[in-house]
Amino acid sequence: MESFVFGGLPVRVVFGAGAFDALPAELDRLGTRRVLLIATPSQASQAGRIASALGARLVARETHIIQHVPAEQMEATAALAARVGADCLVALGGGSAIGLAKAVALRTALPIVAIPSTYSGSEMTPIYGISEGGAKRTGRDASVLAKTVLYDPDLTLGLPPHLSAMSGLNAIAHAVEGLYAEDANPLTSIFAEEGIRALGRGLPRVVECPDDRAARADCLYGAFLCGAVLGGVGMSLHHKLCHTLGGSFGLPHAETHAVVLPQVVAFNAPAVPAAMARVAVALGSAEAASGIHALGARLGVPAGLRALGLRREDLDRAAALATENPYFNPRPFDRHDVRAVLEAAWEGRPPGPG
Ligand code: NAD
Repeated sequence: MESFVFGGLPVRVVFGAGAFDALPAELDRLGTRRVLLIATPSQASQAGRIASALGARLVARETHIIQHVPAEQMEATAALAARVGADCLVALGGGSAIGLAKAVALRTALPIVAIPSTYSGSEMTPIYGISEGGAKRTGRDASVLAKTVLYDPDLTLGLPPHLSAMSGLNAIAHAVEGLYAEDANPLTSIFAEEGIRALGRGLPRVVECPDDRAARADCLYGAFLCGAVLGGVGMSLHHKLCHTLGGSFGLPHAETHAVVLPQVVAFNAPAVPAAMARVAVALGSAEAASGIHALGARLGVPAGLRALGLRREDLDRAAALATENPYFNPRPFDRHDVRAVLEAAWEGRPPGPG
C-alpha cells in the first residue's frame, strides 16, 4: 500500500426514500430559523410540500435559476438574503440551483442544506462557479460546502429520462477522473468504483422505466458517491475540456460531459491501466472507454459535439483554450493531442486507442 492523504468532507448525508421529510429536524440541528429557499422552477410541484416543511421559517424564495450562476444573480440573491435576515439557504434542484446557493454562501457565509433533484453531484463539493463577462470562474472554498444533504430518490422521479441520463453520465465523469487523480487515495477510489457501478446499473433502468424507484435510488446513491469524489480530489483533462466547451462555446454542461468522456478515457487509458480496469469492472465491460461509450449509446447520448452545436472551425480555438495553462493529467499532452480528442468527440466516433 502506497502512502496517501485523505481529507473527509464534513457533510452530513441523509439518504433514502422520504429523506425530504427530515428537513425540519435537520434545520433544527443547525439551529436555523430563517430560510431563503433557492429552488428550480421544475420543482414547483413540491412547493406546497416545501412550504409546509419550512413553515414560518420560510422568509424568502428565489426560483429564477440561470445555469452557470451569473455574478449579478449572486449579488441580487445575497442582497435578498441580507434584506430578509436569512440564516440558512435551502437549495432544492440540480447543479444550477445548488450552484446559486454556493455563490450566495461565498458572499454571505450562510450554511446550505442541499436537496438535489438531478445526479450531477454538485451538492457534495466545495467547488463554486460564477459567470461574468462571458467567462466562468471556478474555485474551491470550504464555506460553500453544504452542511447537510438530503438525498431523496423520490424527488428525482420527475426528472425526465434524458436529463437523468446526462446528469448521471456527468457524475460518472467525476468518478472516472477521480480514479486517476494526482491526489487519488484508496477511499475516494472505492467511492468512485462503487459510484460508477451504481449509476451503470441504475441509469438504463431509469431510462426504460422512469418510475422505477429502486433504479432511482441506485442512481442517486451513485451521484452521491461520484459527487464526493469530485469534492475530494482534483480533476484533469476531461473536466478542463468540458469547462472550456461550456464556458467559451455555450455547450450544454451535462451533454458535453457525456459526449467527451469516452474520448478522453481512450486517450488517458494507456497511462493508467489499473484505474481504467476498475471502470471496466464497474461497468461490466471488457474495457473502460468502450464500456462508457456503450452505456452512453444505450442512454441516448447525442451524436457528437457537432450535434450539440459546436462548429468544426471552433475545434482549433477550443484546443488552444484548453491547453493555455498547465494542469495535471495522467498522460502528458499537447495542443495537437487535445485537437485530436476534440475531433473524435465532435464526430461522435466510437473511441479508439489514443
Ligand atoms: P441543472 O440544475 O442545470 O438542471 C437541468 C434542468 O433540469 C433544469 O431545467 C432544471 O429545472 C431541471 N430539473 C432539475 N431537477 C429536476 C427534476 N427532478 N425534475 C424535472 N426537472 C428537473 O442540471 P445539472 O446537470 O444538475 O447542473 C448543471 C450545472 O451544475 C452546471 O452549471 C455545472 O457547471 C454545475 N455543476 C457543478 C458542480 C460542482 O461541484 N460545482 C458539479 C456538477 C455540476
